[in-house]
Amino acid sequence: MRDVVIVGAGPVGLFLACELGLAGCSVLVLEREPELGSPWKPNPLGMRGLSAASAEAFYRRGMLPPLLTASGADVDSGANPDADEPAAPRIVGHFAGMMLDPAQVDVADLPFRLAGPAPEGMLTSLDAVETVLSERASELGVEIRRGVTVSGVAQNDESVVAQAGEDAYAARWLVGCDGGRSTVRRLAGFEFVGTEPQFTGYAMDATLADPEKLRPGFNLTPTGMYLRTSVQGYVGMMDFDGGAFDRSRQPTRDHLQSVLRRVSGTDVTLSDVRLASTFTDRAMQTTTYRRGRVLLAGDAAHIHSPLGGQGLNTGIGDAMNLGWKLAATVRGNAPDGLLDTYTRERHPTGAAVLDWSRAQVAVMRPDPHAHAMQAVIRDLIGTRDGTTYVFGRVSGASNRYDLGDGHPLVGRSAPDFRLEDGTRLGDLTRDGRGVALDFGAGRTLHASATGWEHRIRYTAGPAGNPLGLSAVLVRPDGTVAWADTGTPDREAFERAATHWFGTPTK
Ligand SMILES: Cc1cc2nc3c(=O)[nH]c(=O)nc-3n(C[C@H](O)[C@H](O)[C@H](O)COP(=O)(O)OP(=O)(O)OC[C@H]3O[C@@H](n4cnc5c(N)ncnc54)[C@H](O)[C@@H]3O)c2cc1C
Repeated sequence: MRDVVIVGAGPVGLFLACELGLAGCSVLVLEREPELGSPWKPNPLGMRGLSAASAEAFYRRGMLPPLLTASGADVDSGANPDADEPAAPRIVGHFAGMMLDPAQVDVADLPFRLAGPAPEGMLTSLDAVETVLSERASELGVEIRRGVTVSGVAQNDESVVAQAGEDAYAARWLVGCDGGRSTVRRLAGFEFVGTEPQFTGYAMDATLADPEKLRPGFNLTPTGMYLRTSVQGYVGMMDFDGGAFDRSRQPTRDHLQSVLRRVSGTDVTLSDVRLASTFTDRAMQTTTYRRGRVLLAGDAAHIHSPLGGQGLNTGIGDAMNLGWKLAATVRGNAPDGLLDTYTRERHPTGAAVLDWSRAQVAVMRPDPHAHAMQAVIRDLIGTRDGTTYVFGRVSGASNRYDLGDGHPLVGRSAPDFRLEDGTRLGDLTRDGRGVALDFGAGRTLHASATGWEHRIRYTAGPAGNPLGLSAVLVRPDGTVAWADTGTPDREAFERAATHWFGTPTK
């Protein structure tokens, strides 16, 4: 019997498979689509913005260089690891269609950030992400079976079985990463709650007969929003029809043109539509991410509009958070309740993303109240503080798990500390263990860290900029579990290490 079956080889299922494979678990991924790659996944329709937090996740596992290459961004990612402060972001995006100016982001105001190789956001495609992750998963011994549609899930105290036609796949755990219309979510009885849509959105790869009639970028209009990007052929639009369009049918060119004309307030003509997809702002989330031996991650656990481009980023955050916890549970060395911290930490993060999407919909609505709010928001995001706030939210820089009292860095993503010999934290996290960094000359924590070698990598040495810290304990997902100033408190370190990594073998 395998340790884990993952249903769905989208970006989230594949990222999770890599995390589990890295930790030595036996993993089988079942994917409905017979082939990797589909016309929807390369640019322009597969274009996706990756946040700083997601770029960091790839960096921490040594997958950033292949991702930059596959994304066509190998020449200049915007990151400057030699600088003291992180580079200003190249892309900040928009709030409710109101563009933000990257030059307005005050990186010095983002707490505990250091420059590193990971960019503060980048453009990629689903195709690039899935190709890089599939290759890495295979290197790690993960088996991916394509052309398998899971239609049954049954669990007992010992195991869980995924049924696909006549075939049954048993494992100790099953994770549904099967997207917004998740079969696993339904079959395993998860409650999915939230709000119904106000608009239908369209993304298309099209040719415009008269492109000069549409302004480039995001354009908020009295009737909705349209988007023309620098990526050739991409046109997006949002139509406040209450989500009335029947999404089981393919939109025709005539329908798309009439919506585009209404939303843009122009008589623009679509001369060719190669591909078109639809989405809504339905915002739903499961009430828990675990039922017995079945867990959910990514769109299977939360759906919302693509406004602000956060679905994939939130899903990668889920996978990074869940991977090491599930692996420790499989190995039998997880401290009590570790797996339950997955829902405890990721559910509030997902809920905040849903609300971020709802807030944008509220100010985009074609009514006088929303138009009045737009003017207020436009003023606010025109300020340095306003832009920095939005950037902190969408980049993940202001995300903090509530891990109780302690240093204000605890619960945040660890800065990419650089030791004086040039080693970076991101070099130390590649094997998926936690990291104890001891910046003082006395190697104070050395004895305390023994017995945890399989789970925590101990490294000592002065850092170029330790941000006033003397020592820090970083979880495998890059979250700071404990930090200290002055002489490191060995007992506090051991308490934190036991809390997250279990009893040491001393
Ligand atoms: C227009 C648009 C723009 C977007 N832009 C961004 C952006 O810029 N940034 C961002 O972060 N997010 C963005 N998103 C959201 C992002 O694309 C999704 O959140 C992300 O793809 C979800 O990944 P996932 O792996 O959870 O699910 P999916 O990508 O949906 O993958 C699920 C996989 O499961 C498989 N599957 C489904 N059912 C079964 C079954 N029964 N058996 C076996 N396999 C099954 C599917 O074939 C699929 O491969 C955007 C979305 C849209 C629509």
